[in-house]
Amino acid sequence: MKPLQATSLVLLQHHLKALHLPTVNAECEKLAHQAAADNVDHLSYLLQLTELELLERERRSAERRLKAARFPTHKTLEGFDFAARPSVNKLLLCELARCEYIDRRENVLFVGNPGTGKTHLATALGMAACARGYRVRFHRVTELVTLLMEARDERTLLGLRARLAKLDLLILDELGYVPASKLGAELLFDVISSAYEQSSLIVTTNLPFESWTEVLGSERLTGATLDRLTHRCQIIETKGESYRLRDATAKLRKGSAGSAGSKGPRRKALEGGQTSS
Ligand code: ADP
Ligand code: MG
Repeated sequence: MKPLQATSLVLLQHHLKALHLPTVNAECEKLAHQAAADNVDHLSYLLQLTELELLERERRSAERRLKAARFPTHKTLEGFDFAARPSVNKLLLCELARCEYIDRRENVLFVGNPGTGKTHLATALGMAACARGYRVRFHRVTELVTLLMEARDERTLLGLRARLAKLDLLILDELGYVPASKLGAELLFDVISSAYEQSSLIVTTNLPFESWTEVLGSERLTGATLDRLTHRCQIIETKGESYRLRDATAKLRKGSAGSAGSKGPRRKALEGGQTSS
């Protein structure tokens, strides 16, 4: 086969750039040599190139979605120790990671004490949704309420609402740490009721339902919020003691075991009270 002339190669690279095919551009020469050596026909060569372009495109858009979601840390279900949190059903979480609840526009609520893995699980489900092509955004509730109030003052609330409306999944983390003002609670309610049956919400909270009035102020608003949130919703309780505390206690025990004897560090850690809570 006649090799492509240098000028034609420059022209080809120009065309590929104009067509926005960066991976084809980067790989076509190398793959062409390989195809010639392996006696691969033209169509198979083209197939290989286009597959590479598609894979790279998908990888880049997943990366963009992950960045846009603004997770504070990256967490996965694989990194969650289900044995340490028996109240959380692993099968249910694995099913939720398949994101069918998002197609059904249902919600997920994580309720439990601080340090029991609510943010971890919410983030893991959010990241699973990003990987499947859904538009996700993570917000701490206090931060979102501040954003909403600022947007209202600056008359940009419509724009913010429109951005939230484009999401497939909105994660509202830590509802209940700071009581919202009357206006803040109303703006938050507005976000929750706009999402109702349009998109999915994941909410994490340390508050039992009966205490939500303390955060949202009025009983009317709390009732209406809970009504929308919990209609078609998976409620997952993360019962038990804080994982951070447990982890710290285990480390402390491991430390004191280390100073007491001459056993290897792994053996000492295992003996140092790693009992499940
Ligand atoms: P919460 O949101 O309930 O306060 P977090 O999800 O922030 O708790 O958990 C606190 C820390 O402990 C995080 O670093 C989290 O990854 C970790 N953690 C909590 N529960 C588990 C668990 N069961 N397995 C692994 N790590 C956990
Ligand atoms: Mg949390």
